[in-house]
Amino acid sequence: MQPSTLSGSGLSDLCAQRASRMAASEIRELLKILERPGLISFAGGIPDPALFDVEAFRTAYAGALARPEAAAAALQYSTSEGYLPLRRWIAAHMARSGVDCTPDNILITSGSQQAIELIGKLFIDEGDTLLTAAPTYLGALQAFAPNGPRYDTLGDNVTAAVHRARAEAAGSRVKLIYLVPDFANPSGDTLSLAERARIVDMAAELGCLIVEDGAYTALRYGGEELPPIAALDARRAGSVDAGRTLYCGTFSKTLSPALRVGWICGPRETMQRLTLAKQAADLHSATINQVAMHAVAEACYDDRVAAARHQYRIRRDAMLAALDRHAPPGMDWTRPDGGLFVWVTLPPGVDGRRLLKRAIEEANIAFVPGRAFFAEEPQDNTLRLSFSLADPARIETGMERLCDLIRSEVAALRAVPDAVPA
Ligand code: PMP
Repeated sequence: MQPSTLSGSGLSDLCAQRASRMAASEIRELLKILERPGLISFAGGIPDPALFDVEAFRTAYAGALARPEAAAAALQYSTSEGYLPLRRWIAAHMARSGVDCTPDNILITSGSQQAIELIGKLFIDEGDTLLTAAPTYLGALQAFAPNGPRYDTLGDNVTAAVHRARAEAAGSRVKLIYLVPDFANPSGDTLSLAERARIVDMAAELGCLIVEDGAYTALRYGGEELPPIAALDARRAGSVDAGRTLYCGTFSKTLSPALRVGWICGPRETMQRLTLAKQAADLHSATINQVAMHAVAEACYDDRVAAARHQYRIRRDAMLAALDRHAPPGMDWTRPDGGLFVWVTLPPGVDGRRLLKRAIEEANIAFVPGRAFFAEEPQDNTLRLSFSLADPARIETGMERLCDLIRSEVAALRAVPDAVPA
């Protein structure tokens, strides 16, 4: 037998079966071209670095290392649950939004991405059914994928009984509902209070878990504040401990993503199991980063959130106004109350991936084609625009160029009548 090498089919042969479900992220691949000079990017959903409070982080790290005793602790291994003062801060933060909890309900994770991954590891067996929106957060699809779930799409008129029947028909059961209720990535959509209450009822009826991804919740620019699903669930169940919601939070969009500090807030017994999963994954999140994040959150969380809201609101408004001005007929888009994204539905037949290729080559702009955000039945005539990085003038230029390209794609499709679907 030939010894296999670590390349090509030899590599595939050695990989575990779950590796076949690990696909490259279209967004990560895309980010590689974003360094191009002059490119106006509406692609990555990354925060504007101008909003990072560099001085606060400098002070926080200097503080963590100032006294020998504190420095020794900050540079040492620490508990899997996370740095207690940070967990206390987060418990108080969750309580402010109506989730009455203690540090025992909080596990610190390496970004909320790890929160989602650990939850998938703990709860999803191959073939288990997950209920999600379509489109939904690509990173969650990637995190869940190695466990081999099947998906069913949440919809206005789809009841718990229908979801259960569909799962049973496939020899499966509904294990969890994954949602980004505020200004979702990628759709920008927000669930109303009634929709949140309906999710709580549905999960109770199905006996399943709710995974509430609150990555963008702090970034609201309009509309009324709504309670997290976790708060409604705790109210219905009597307490967080009696509930069925795992809330995934993060400092990535408000303070900085680089420190990789996120959290899960949920029932104590579940948190103990998640802590074991965390321990197996990486023992604990970086101690000094937790110490620094706590210091920065204490010093200026509300100020930074206010600054981010102010800046992103201006950019959201600029993007919506530019789309109103330039969009061709047949193009539709969401009007988010917060977050970083506008979701665009292109005129029928216009393909987001083809459009991106032209956008990069001919217009020096980038966005993410919508296809990757669907667990199944992708819609090719969609794309995601992020307004987090470009200033209003560049947003105006970028949207004008994008809309011109879309117009020219529609004209090209008209020239080949069969290409336009009825
Ligand atoms: N959830 C959503 C909806 C996101 O958009 C992101 C990042 N793009 C994450 C979770 C993960 O973020 P982080 O790991 O930096 O907390």
